[in-house]
Amino acid sequence: MSSDTVYLLDSLYNNELSPEVETQIATIMNTTENSIEVNVPDILQQDNSVDCGLHCIANAIQFATDRKITKTVFITRHLRPHWLECIESGKISLFPSSRQIHHSLIEMQFKDISVFCICRLPDHYGTKMTKCSGRDCHEWFHIECVNLCGKESLGKWFCPLCSS
Ligand SMILES: [Zn+2]
Ligand SMILES: [Zn+2]
Repeated sequence: MSSDTVYLLDSLYNNELSPEVETQIATIMNTTENSIEVNVPDILQQDNSVDCGLHCIANAIQFATDRKITKTVFITRHLRPHWLECIESGKISLFPSSRQIHHSLIEMQFKDISVFCICRLPDHYGTKMTKCSGRDCHEWFHIECVNLCGKESLGKWFCPLCSS
């Protein structure tokens, strides 16, 4: 597992990455590449709408302990009492689970997040985009990030890299 491999452990995953999640991942990764590959393992899905935070903590602790992705079947009714116990005792321990599905047996989805601009964020960052006129550049930029907001006709425009 290299340090730039992204695993998204989402207990409420619905087969796509939301713009918010893509932006959060891109912000954390701060890559110089054009895209970020995200591995989405088929982890346990929560059976209610209130335990997102607990699943997040439970999976994070499990991962920090195992150092690999597993599908851990946490016991829903024990999640909250266990976390309370951790807080009260000042000791964090693994959340109660009934079984664990081995790393090699977990289905994985692969998603790509395309990132652009000097900010290296996706294109749904919230502003219009413009393309650099540099002959070999082909890069797109959020107009807000390159101070082009409110400029009516852009005409030819060169990005910071191409104009330096
Ligand atoms: Zn930008
Ligand atoms: Zn350029």
